[in-house]
Amino acid sequence: MDGTKHHHVIVGGSAAGIAAALAMRQHGFAGRVTVVESGGELPYERPPLSKSITGGETGFLRPIAPREAYDEHGIGLRLGTRVQALEPQHRTVTLDNGQVLHADRVLLATGVVPLTLPVPGSGLSGVVTLRDVRDARILAARLSGGGPLVVVGGGFIGLEVAAVAREAGLDVTVVEMNAQPLEGPLGPTLASRVTDLHERAGVTLRTGMSVVAFTGTDTVTGVQLSTGEVLPATTVVVGIGVRPDTTLAERAGVHCDRGIVVDQHCRTSVPWILAAGDVTNQPNPYLSGRGRIEHWDNAQKQGAVAGAVMAGVQESHTSLPYFYSEQFGRTVQMYGRPVAEDEFVLRHGETDDGFLGFWTRGGVLVAAAGMGRPRELRAARTLIERGNPVTGEALASPATDLRALARVPATR
Ligand SMILES: Cc1cc2nc3c(=O)[nH]c(=O)nc-3n(C[C@H](O)[C@H](O)[C@H](O)COP(=O)(O)OP(=O)(O)OC[C@H]3O[C@@H](n4cnc5c(N)ncnc54)[C@H](O)[C@@H]3O)c2cc1C
Repeated sequence: MDGTKHHHVIVGGSAAGIAAALAMRQHGFAGRVTVVESGGELPYERPPLSKSITGGETGFLRPIAPREAYDEHGIGLRLGTRVQALEPQHRTVTLDNGQVLHADRVLLATGVVPLTLPVPGSGLSGVVTLRDVRDARILAARLSGGGPLVVVGGGFIGLEVAAVAREAGLDVTVVEMNAQPLEGPLGPTLASRVTDLHERAGVTLRTGMSVVAFTGTDTVTGVQLSTGEVLPATTVVVGIGVRPDTTLAERAGVHCDRGIVVDQHCRTSVPWILAAGDVTNQPNPYLSGRGRIEHWDNAQKQGAVAGAVMAGVQESHTSLPYFYSEQFGRTVQMYGRPVAEDEFVLRHGETDDGFLGFWTRGGVLVAAAGMGRPRELRAARTLIERGNPVTGEALASPATDLRALARVPATR
């Protein structure tokens, strides 16, 4: 598609939105492309916000692309501007300054917003969430004043902040409702390998308990647990999950169900509107059904598919889900998303030298997670994508050459 006279508007300038804008140009769309982003910064990557929060702004604020790239590709950026409404009947996009844009196609890449804890004291200064660079600036300033830091919720973002704060010498406690952090994504065996890293580094883990209040007058001074105990805190990071930002979509009549419901081409129930990234409830051949995939890699790849589709190329988003996390100088990586019924086998994990675990379902590999085992993980990725028959015994044995298994022609 050339589409010289067309105008495509992207709401949300982050991983999915920017990937879509660049993909439109790669696929030859020659019309106008406008990205409307409520944040005021040149679009930046979010993963460094939690990993480099103690390294100063140059450490955590990393642009997705230099400013010149947007000029070079003719991508208009409307930063510090919020889209207030979409009107499919008139094909208009209303901005918060009252301006109305005509759009031939709209992409919603509005992402997610962090959940807050509805307990007394949650509005105290020093009780923060971490989603954008404004949050990062506030958190970085507080951490530079020292601890103790309490992290509520042992998910990846919370644990990454815990790790860097501990490395900077702060007293850090992680409070987790479940039996241990990361059990949901990694399962108990691999989760314990990651939490071991934290305990060895001196992070205190308080598991199986919840937070009932934050104490303090203007600024937080403590975190009250369900046991009645109060942990001292000068800063609290609440990392208990996110909700998809579906407000605009719902108002525009788009079908939403725990996210904006899209098909493999990023199309929503309203033909004028596509959606991509964390905000979508998407079908994926590697998920049991559909769901949200809140990872950088997915947002970029799905965004690129949306851009292709908007440029008139019918691509499908079918990528294997992937994420990574960095803690204490180690990288945890995972492909696929296991379910409780899958069979788990551990291949490496008895030493401090990293770990590697697999999940199988019906005689094929469906997910793999590891730390410090990049080559085997890459082979596992190919095995998952190819769907070749495997046995748990073969996967568990370090003598099995995964790359040889992965070279067998695909059966999927
Ligand atoms: C601290 C942190 C660390 C992370 N680390 C990792 C990691 O290590 N590995 C990994 O795989 N993933 C990581 N992630 C997740 C990853 O960043 C997300 O998956 C990715 O950012 C999703 O991109 P997105 O474009 O879908 O949405 P978002 O990044 O959420 O962006 C949505 C954008 O839409 C804008 N917006 C919303 N509504 C409007 C509106 N009405 N008008 C204009 N603009 C609007 C928002 O301002 C926002 O910038 C991390 C996330 C965070 C917050």
